[in-house]
Amino acid sequence: MSKNKAKQVQSVRGMHDILPEDQKYWRYIQKKIEALIEYYGFERFSTPILEQAELFTRSVGETTDIIAKEIYTLKTKGGDVLALRPEGTAPTVRAYLENGMHVKPHPVKLYYLDSMFRHDEPQAGRYRQFHQLGLETIGDGSEAVDAELIFLANKLLESIGLDNYNVQINSIGDQNCRPAYIKALRDYFRNRSKNLCANCKVRLKENVLRILDCKEEGCKEAAKEAPQMVDFLDEHCRLHFKHVLEFLDEAKVPYILNPYLARGLDYYTRTVFEFVPDENASSQSTLIAGGRYDRLIEQLGGSKTPAAGWAMGVERIILAMKEKQVHVPDSGPKPKVFLVQLGEAPKRKALPLFESFRKAGIDAKSSLGRDSIKSQLRIAHRLGVRFALIFGQKEALDSTIILREMDTGVQETILLDRIVDEVKKRLKDKPIAGPLPAMAEEDALAKH
Ligand code: ATP
Ligand code: MG
Repeated sequence: MSKNKAKQVQSVRGMHDILPEDQKYWRYIQKKIEALIEYYGFERFSTPILEQAELFTRSVGETTDIIAKEIYTLKTKGGDVLALRPEGTAPTVRAYLENGMHVKPHPVKLYYLDSMFRHDEPQAGRYRQFHQLGLETIGDGSEAVDAELIFLANKLLESIGLDNYNVQINSIGDQNCRPAYIKALRDYFRNRSKNLCANCKVRLKENVLRILDCKEEGCKEAAKEAPQMVDFLDEHCRLHFKHVLEFLDEAKVPYILNPYLARGLDYYTRTVFEFVPDENASSQSTLIAGGRYDRLIEQLGGSKTPAAGWAMGVERIILAMKEKQVHVPDSGPKPKVFLVQLGEAPKRKALPLFESFRKAGIDAKSSLGRDSIKSQLRIAHRLGVRFALIFGQKEALDSTIILREMDTGVQETILLDRIVDEVKKRLKDKPIAGPLPAMAEEDALAKH
């Protein structure tokens, strides 16, 4: 080993690679999203990773964890302050306004599946780059929208194979009735301020609702008998909340009323909800969170437009799937043909041959780096292909190829320009064979 081996560069803390063996989870989730979320009329769209930092300070709120502690900002040479997006709702609203989507028939239903960036404390299920599936329904203030969103989140988890979570729901009122609640909350916490963490002491002055979202034990304890928003809801908000719950009852979505659910972002109004793992799960981190944000579009320069949405942390879902040992099928169809190449000339001719199989819609595989017939046939066997095509020096000269039925070891020499049709014909005549018995492989090897 060389003494001067170069030092390896490590990934950025809290950011991780998604390796080939994990891709099947991503593909699986993507398929479930397409089958369910698109069926319900949501269209996929994407926004840039970078936005003007102001977009988030004006929407998520200056005193939230996301803005105060977690956002990644950078200054360009021209002096602009940009931010790596920490969440997807504000960019969605920005894009909705900027692209004139407000003239489309409403509601506009969008979904995204994109990476988000937050300077969070890294641990299982908490990363600095992570992915969110987000759903947003813009332009409809009715209770049915809140219920549909919660119903879909529930159905999605169910279709992914997860069931060990509960749906927590609350209403945090609106600009008319929330101020009285905020005042009551401030009076309550002011009397207990010595038990609050340093952050919450600041929150007491700046954003008292955030204290309810604090994860410190002392603050959770102090919040136990805090006033509840339900007692402060005005008639409109109370009815809205009541109807959302009735819709959920009708749709048979079980839920738990959590009077202290406040959510960590400032733009929410009325309904807020979280999908939280049951106590027996190894992580209690929220899987899906969302709510109504009826003022955000106005706040970002649009006209008064009600909206609601949620976001799901994809990495947390995958961790939960692994913990529950959800069966995820390996991706793609099984290859039917394996091309065994022996020597220089066959290797040169293999690429066009391979391409003609792809064009014919027949999934073929090969292993260019392997030279021995034995090791290549072993791979063919492992892949469970129906045919091995053996392409040696002699065959390359004659423009022929050997077609071997893997389950019997029977082989036949075929003209090269007829091979695709021959394979096609045989696949049509007889369905794909099961795994090759061990004997037949040994036998086949001996014959060549
Ligand atoms: P938490 O309370 O766990 O910090 P949050 O309230 O900050 O979550 P939201 O902004 O509501 O989270 O984001 C919605 C979902 O995105 C969360 O429920 C979670 O599944 C996921 N999520 C949030 N932050 C992270 C992170 N740092 N790493 C992985 N997933 C995350
Ligand atoms: Mg957070």
